[in-house]
Amino acid sequence: MSVPSASPTLLCVHPHPDDESIACGGVLARAVDTGIRAVVVTCTGGEEGENQSGIDLGDDPLPVHRRREMAAALDALGIHHHHWLGYRDSGMVDTAANGHPDSFHRADLDEAASRLAAIIRAERPQVVVSDDHTGTYGHPDHVKAHQVTVRAVTLAADPDAEVAGAPWRVAKRYVHTMGGRQLLAAHRALLDAGLPSPFGEEPVDDPAVLPFGTPDEDITTEVDVVPWLAHKRAAMAAHRSQIGPDSFFLNVPEDLAATFFGTEQFVLEEGELGPQRPEDDLFAGLAGGDSDADDRR
Ligand SMILES: [Zn+2]
Repeated sequence: MSVPSASPTLLCVHPHPDDESIACGGVLARAVDTGIRAVVVTCTGGEEGENQSGIDLGDDPLPVHRRREMAAALDALGIHHHHWLGYRDSGMVDTAANGHPDSFHRADLDEAASRLAAIIRAERPQVVVSDDHTGTYGHPDHVKAHQVTVRAVTLAADPDAEVAGAPWRVAKRYVHTMGGRQLLAAHRALLDAGLPSPFGEEPVDDPAVLPFGTPDEDITTEVDVVPWLAHKRAAMAAHRSQIGPDSFFLNVPEDLAATFFGTEQFVLEEGELGPQRPEDDLFAGLAGGDSDADDRR
């Protein structure tokens, strides 16, 4: 197997422009700030998104505009390593865009995974993160991003796989998620503040009734990203056409932002957990984990 990469590297795979900022903006900004190379792969161009905030796009079609927004979001997070996987947004489930021949949804699994595996071999990340098998909220591209990432990590390590570059074994593969406790706390905080909640107007006691989320006992890793919240919120705001000024993501008051966005949660699906449970760092147990962070700052 390959020699270890010189610098610790985090690689996050996301279906659309904006998902990186919403799901992993904190750990990405934190990585950059603590000397870890942070790499983002975006599977589609977000062609099926709508101009949610009705901003003036000028003469540009939305996908061109979204590329500029993506560049601004990456800048806000401090990321300089970005790859487009090259597929077309598949749209929401059961829409006509699902059937587009270039859609990510219809892409051959091994073909898409080979593209991602080549990026993994070139970037040599110790840690890879994607959506979970439910696609977080069921969007076909989010489900596909999970499937493609699982397969790509296997292909990247396989010396017999027909993938460009030298084989590379990812030490830890995670999925990003949200635990029921965190979702309920956010819901309650919004209701207490008299603000609309994405989970309705009724108080909820049982996280099992929420439409998504992971049981708390399954969360393996909780990363405190409060010191990097300004970067994460600026990155979300950079996706102006998707996350408009009326969006819940931008309207959460400053004092509630930590409740919503201050902890990013993950489940380790491949590799060895660090000694602490839950882990407080995606690199726990690896060279480049928090125990080494002081040397890098
Ligand atoms: Zn998405």
